[in-house]
Amino acid sequence: MASTTSSPHYRIGLAANRAHQDAPNSALVQLLRGAQQHIEALQPELVVVGRTLDAIDQLGLLPDYPHLERFPYGRQGGLMKLVSRVVDSDPARTLDAIIYLIDPVDPSSTFPEAVALKRQCVIHGKPFLSTLAGAREWFELEAVAAGAAPDRCLDNRFDLSQEGIALIAHDSMKPRMLALAERHFEVLDSFAFRCATGTTGGLLNALAQKIKGVEAGRNWVKPFLSGPMGGDAQIAELILDHQCRRVLFLEDPHVARQHEADIQLLERAARTVTDYASCMSDEKWGDRWLTQLNARRRA
Ligand code: PGA
Repeated sequence: MASTTSSPHYRIGLAANRAHQDAPNSALVQLLRGAQQHIEALQPELVVVGRTLDAIDQLGLLPDYPHLERFPYGRQGGLMKLVSRVVDSDPARTLDAIIYLIDPVDPSSTFPEAVALKRQCVIHGKPFLSTLAGAREWFELEAVAAGAAPDRCLDNRFDLSQEGIALIAHDSMKPRMLALAERHFEVLDSFAFRCATGTTGGLLNALAQKIKGVEAGRNWVKPFLSGPMGGDAQIAELILDHQCRRVLFLEDPHVARQHEADIQLLERAARTVTDYASCMSDEKWGDRWLTQLNARRRA
């Protein structure tokens, strides 16, 4: 298909845990087949870790695609090199986004390089897409923003009047969450429901009362327990039960976090239902995502 877009030229790091590679309906297959037209339109450079690229070749995905670069196998440092490229300021080398389709029960998904890959994406404001649903949505939104036709197979997930969203911000990020929510109030308001960890939820309800009035804004967000008291786990259950598909979690990567396990648990829940849920983890990406989501729901 000829390119009909005027997109930024993306360079994307791509890896998948083994369970998401080989089967005919694996997450990797579903992503690359489902997003094929958008990949052809956007023509991103794909920097692919060894065994994931072997699977792409063996399954005949991306035939004759011209922008593939092979990175070493995981055991030879492929993921470590992706981390280095995320933080690289050289425009000829840096990665703009990471797609790492994570199987939450694969031990390698918790190796230091896997954790650092996510953390450096958060620090450098780059999308870290660890679920099939998140990666599929990212290609859809970027392609539509660049002028491609929407994929009508995905329309139901953009009917936000049927969808829930979870909003969470660590302490230093709470002012940014409030600014983001105010800037994107219309699209957030269009969701069927919003939920949050305790303190974040209280602040967001105060914002909603300012915008919508005291009564109408009072229960704009359903607050669960505070994060350190188990609120992340409560939201994880909603995700596992297919009650809430999207999480916007403004993480603070620069502080020690006493409830690190709970934070990890939440994203692992999304990876457990990889074809359903997704997490956005930083302000810059969240801002772009909400703008694109608002456009797509009307497309
Ligand atoms: P909080 O929880 O909204 O109750 O502060 C967020 C967190 O720190 O995980």
